[in-house]
Amino acid sequence: MPSAIDILPDWGWMALAFALGPAFGSFIGLVSLRLPVGQPIGADRSACKGCGRRLGILDLIPIASFVALGGRCRSCKAPIARRYLALEVTCALLPVWAGLVHPGPAALAGAVLGWQLVLLCLLDAEHLWLPRAATLPLVASGVAISAMAGAEAATHSLIGAAVGFASLAVIAATYRRLRGRDGLGGGDAYLLAGSGAWVGWIGIPTTLLWASLAGLSLVVAGLVVGRPIRADQRLPFGVFLAAGTWLTWLYGPLGGVTVG
Ligand SMILES: [Zn+2]
Repeated sequence: MPSAIDILPDWGWMALAFALGPAFGSFIGLVSLRLPVGQPIGADRSACKGCGRRLGILDLIPIASFVALGGRCRSCKAPIARRYLALEVTCALLPVWAGLVHPGPAALAGAVLGWQLVLLCLLDAEHLWLPRAATLPLVASGVAISAMAGAEAATHSLIGAAVGFASLAVIAATYRRLRGRDGLGGGDAYLLAGSGAWVGWIGIPTTLLWASLAGLSLVVAGLVVGRPIRADQRLPFGVFLAAGTWLTWLYGPLGGVTVG
């Protein structure tokens, strides 16, 4: 009996995820604008900010509509935010990256991970906010996808989630004790739980290492361009964690140890 993995050739999985990417990118753009203001995700269709014209079905086709209309509203010619185009392209390219590193169905799994990380990055970068509505699905999807590989992988994933949550909770508590204020948002612990669900507990140190390097490079970049990061400035640590999770999922824990 053919297994689910034989349904498509390796490149087919990547092509499928690539094709779905723009639609998810578009959806992520919508969620990232509506979630922070408490607007229901399923509320009525988006409208042009310039003239209030409701977007038609044709306007909602990702990338193609943007290119066809030259990036402007059909009625009032107001420029359409580049944000959507950038998200659609990013969400199409992430599965390709995943598929090149892990051919086969893993490309689609990588897409599911990548798309969620993009949303979390947006929410943290723009609002310093990692709602559980966005972090808990990361945990659940990590466990569910691991479970497809069997009970052992599912166990690794569950332990990963628990270790991820606990380790960030410990780092946050230590920081609070040393500096007398909160350095990490509570959402970061849930994000690292999601990370652990995807990379396993053994991938958590590598995720944190990547995240620290990403954070450090931002600090260095700030010094280089003459806009140093202030000591009281809050950084979107979730963005760094998301980058660390992505790289660890793709390339595995440093030291070459792999888990089921
Ligand atoms: Zn308009």
